[in-house]
Amino acid sequence: MLYLQPMILQGVKEKVKSGEMLPLMEEFYTIQGEGFHKGSAAYFVRIGGCDVGCHWCDVKESWNAELHPPTETSKIVENASKYSDTVVVTGGEPLTWDMTNLTDGLKRKGLKVHIETSGAYELTGTWDWICLSPKKMKLPLVNIYQKAHELKMIVFNKDDLRFAEEQALKVNADCILYLQPEWSRREKMIPIIVDYVMANPKWKVSLQTHKYLNIP
Ligand code: SF4
Repeated sequence: MLYLQPMILQGVKEKVKSGEMLPLMEEFYTIQGEGFHKGSAAYFVRIGGCDVGCHWCDVKESWNAELHPPTETSKIVENASKYSDTVVVTGGEPLTWDMTNLTDGLKRKGLKVHIETSGAYELTGTWDWICLSPKKMKLPLVNIYQKAHELKMIVFNKDDLRFAEEQALKVNADCILYLQPEWSRREKMIPIIVDYVMANPKWKVSLQTHKYLNIP
């Protein structure tokens, strides 16, 4: 039966390409720690695969999609629906893959579906909430800016404030603007962000509150 293995492998690859399967790194029920929905319970689905290459990335294990098992999206949907009415799809960069199948399945279950994305790849899927977090290394594609509900800019150094302003010019007028200190730089950057937000109140502060709560 060994001859079947390449065929099976090819079948899996095709299913991943179509979004019927996705490289699942982890899934867990927790509290959303960041941005507009912070403090709310949600089921997180972390999809493997990202080539954006942020040097401060805190989920570098997600980058290589091949390390994460291709998983039927129907199984992910089934798991999520047991825990929460809200699902946050994150990564990695989830838009590396076609999200249509996953979000269709989640919507059929009546779930609210949120995404956290750098926007570097084509926006697929149907989303109730889009958190766009642009990265200098690989900028978002043009189409996603006007669709984002929140813009979350990670601040590692002062130049990121300049970058944040540049990105804020591209989103729609209702998009909520957040500055969030990169975790390892929080002690240095929080005072700078606080001063900046008081001087430029169109911005709000976002903190990774789940890390303070010691939850995933
Ligand atoms: S886009 Fe996200 S997952 Fe990808 S390298 Fe940057 S922080 Fe990490």
